[in-house]
Amino acid sequence: MATSPSISKNVVKRMLLALIDFEPTWNEIGEMLGYFGYECFYCGKEFASLKDDFTLDHIVPRAKNGTNCIANRVPACTRCNCHERRDQPFEEFLRIKCKTDAEFEEKHSAVAFWCATSFHQHTQIPQELWELVNDHVRQIHDLIDSSVAEIREKKKELGFPTLNAKDFQKLSGFEPPPKGVRARGNARR
Ligand SMILES: [Zn+2]
Repeated sequence: MATSPSISKNVVKRMLLALIDFEPTWNEIGEMLGYFGYECFYCGKEFASLKDDFTLDHIVPRAKNGTNCIANRVPACTRCNCHERRDQPFEEFLRIKCKTDAEFEEKHSAVAFWCATSFHQHTQIPQELWELVNDHVRQIHDLIDSSVAEIREKKKELGFPTLNAKDFQKLSGFEPPPKGVRARGNARR
């Protein structure tokens, strides 16, 4: 299958990042909802279904090397996660959302216990490890860029024909559908 340099760069980045960070599985999300309840951790809004306004907030934000791991997530509604908290530190935001000190203490220790459970301890990536991975991503991206540029330059020098979209189609054997025929997924709409 034909692939572009930018897709390849993305794949490399995702592959290397996956070595130090993992997206939660559905089982883990279910476990988290069992622990915190099917409601927004901050405002208590209930989730009728996971399609209904449900997001996974990061306790330690991504900008501070917080991981995607389930140990670093709490269930949150879109309003709390995306509109109200934004980049506010977790504890600061939680204090604003809690009506009493007792509520804050209770929620705070619930999260502390969640993070400390032996099964889930992967909340923050060490800066050194983060830099190492990003450094390698950059190196490989630079290598891809220079390889592509060098090969393109040599092709030009030799007068080698450049493939266009139609040539790619021919080489891959993929025939576009005749005009007026919709792609399969949309056929029944
Ligand atoms: Zn909320």
